[in-house]
Parts: sequence; C-alpha cells; structure tokens
Amino acid sequence: MHRIPFAIPDLDQAEINEVVDSLNSGWITTGPKVKRFEENFKEYIGAKHALAVNSATSGLHLALDAIGIQAQDKVIVPVNTFTSTAEVVRYFDADPIFCDIEKDSFNICIKSLKHILNTYPKKDKIKAIMPVHIAGQACDMDPILKLAKEYNLKIIEDAAHALPTTYKGKLVGTIGDITVYSFYATKTLCTGEGGMITTNNDNYAKRIKVMRLHGFDRDAWDRYNTNKPSWYYSIIAPGFKYNMPDLNASLGIHQLKKVDNFYEKRKSIAKKYDQAFKELPQIQTPYVVNKNDKHAYHLYILKVPQRDKFIEELAKKGVGTSVHFIPLHIQPYWKNKYNLNENDFPNAINNFQAIMSLPIYTKLQDDEIDYIIKSVKEIYEKLI
Ligand SMILES: *Cc1c(COP(=O)(O)O)cnc(C)c1O
Repeated sequence: MHRIPFAIPDLDQAEINEVVDSLNSGWITTGPKVKRFEENFKEYIGAKHALAVNSATSGLHLALDAIGIQAQDKVIVPVNTFTSTAEVVRYFDADPIFCDIEKDSFNICIKSLKHILNTYPKKDKIKAIMPVHIAGQACDMDPILKLAKEYNLKIIEDAAHALPTTYKGKLVGTIGDITVYSFYATKTLCTGEGGMITTNNDNYAKRIKVMRLHGFDRDAWDRYNTNKPSWYYSIIAPGFKYNMPDLNASLGIHQLKKVDNFYEKRKSIAKKYDQAFKELPQIQTPYVVNKNDKHAYHLYILKVPQRDKFIEELAKKGVGTSVHFIPLHIQPYWKNKYNLNENDFPNAINNFQAIMSLPIYTKLQDDEIDYIIKSVKEIYEKLI
C-alpha cells in the first residue's frame, strides 16, 4: 500500500548547507542568521519590524505582553483554533471570550463578534481581538478594524496559517497591531520550531525584543557588536527564553526564498482538488471569499458526510488526514473552566462534525494527488 503522510516539510541542500555553515562557524544560537532571516522577512512582508522567536505560541504570548494585557482582562478568541491562541491569554490570568465562526470561511464571525461587544457586561475589560486566518484565508479585517477602533481594542493576528495571505490585495502582517507566524514543521515555511512577529509599532517591537530574551536590554548578538564591554548586560524586566537559534534561522532564510513557489504549488493542488470534488454533491470544497486574494492553502479543508468513517477509510488506503480544529469549547480544560456547552457556538460545532483536512504540501507528487482524489471518490461512492 502506498502511504501518503498528512504533511512533509520541503527542505533541500540549501537548508542543509546553511545549517552546516552555522555548525562550522561555532555560532549556533541566536546570531547573524537570525538577523538575516528577520531582515529578509521584514522586507518580504513590508513591515517595520520582524522579530524571530522559538514558536508562534511564544510570539502570541509576547504580543499580548506588548499590548499590556493584565490579570482579569478579556481577549476575544475564535473557538475554531489551535489551543495556543487561547492558552497565551491564560498565561496572564486573563480570560478568552470565545467567539463563533462563519459557516463557510471558518474564520471569526463578525456578527458574533459584534454581539459580544454589544452585550458583554464588563466591556472595558475587553482589551484585544485575536483573529485567526484559518487554512490561510484572511479574516474579514475591515469590520474587525472598525470594531477595534470603536471599542478601543488591539488586534493580534494569529497568522500561523497565513504565509503568504493577502486581504484586499495587502499581505497579512501589517493589518492588525501585531501579527504572529508559525514555522512549525508542518507550516508553509518551516524551521522545525519557530515563529515570527511583525509590527509597525516601535514600542511593541522594543518590548518584544526585551521580553523574548530574559529581559536583557539588548540581545546576545548586539553585545558582541557594540563598544560596551562584551560581558556587560542589564536586566530590565522578568523576560522569557523565547529566542530563535541560528540553526532554525538557517532553514528559514532558504525557506523564505521559496515561499512564493511553495504557494503556487499548493494553489495548483487546491485547484486539482476543487475540480475533482465539485462533482460530488455532498462534499463541500473550501469556500473562497475573494478570488483575487491569496489563500495560502496551508490547509485544504473539505466538509464530508460521515466524517469519522471517511477518515478511517482514507487511513485504510494509506492517506493521512487531520481535523482543523476540534473547537476549543469542547476541550475539557476550556469547557470546564468557562462552563461551556457544545451548542454555545453552533457554527463551530456543525463545522467540526463535517471537516477533514487533506494532504496539501509541495512534496506531494502528481500520482499521489491522483491517488488521493481517486480514494476520496471511491469512499464517497461507498458511503453515500
Ligand atoms: C500551529 C499553530 C499555532 C502554534 O504554532 P507553534 O509555532 O507550534 O507555537 C498557533 N495557532 C494556530 C492557528 C496554529 O495552527
């Protein structure tokens, strides 16, 4: 049987050589490669600052710190996301207010967002919104920006899926106050583990730089490049250990060069899937809000009948799949902590019962794509 994993990173000799170069140089933690990666990323996005970290989770934590989240504050988070987005709110002993999603795009529902903002009893406690660009399709940012302005909220974008994603022609990365990317092994740019924070705000960038490395007033690399004695540093805050090592940045530098080619490849796979599955009436292919925008297609999410059975049958045929996401309000911790009911977020729960993510990555071969399509069609015929 042919086995097709759900995701494989696309790393080649350039990445390997760069890692070896770092190993030979003797500088393996945060140093010149991270600087270079940040410079290149900043340029790619067109942001004023790009700050590398060791994961998107760390990045989201630093973003909330930068905007000054305090205990008991509230942050609006869509229920359809990875737990990171909400977990970082709890790091402050603050609380997420969960929000339902749009039925078709799976992104945060603007109507539900408005409802929360209109009806929440302690409105002044709400400090931020964290939109998540699910699968790599941008949230509807204009109404979110408008509401943020009206209610004096900051916008922290979870762009873990959203490289490269555009909203009304503009790359995600400078629309909200702070944007956070993930370079986890399965993401559209991978460094093994890693993340990047972009912002146009100098104060946020300054705070993030301090907090990502123990609260040092400048990072280790700078210490070797100024005329202060190299042993000297001052601690100005109780920071974290969230810096990205040069070994990871070595991958990032070369991955970034390929990010547009990677995108074209995933888009062509999505097109093939769309074409093949649109003839199956009970399968819903990804809903594209704006055809002129870039959908990063980090994920290709289908809605299928008998989802559990579908996944089981695909596994029997050797095709790896996943589910993005099990909504947070049915996860034991979140459910119990905030006394949530399954039906509190009807779109999210209905969506969850039908969704399945198919493999979509640049290493996927044409015959594998054909095999996946054929398998989905066979299972469909069998189950319907
Ligand atoms: C992957 C992911 C994260 C976490 O990324 P890490 O780099 O692993 O911390 C956060 N949010 C979403 C939506 C993700 O998919």
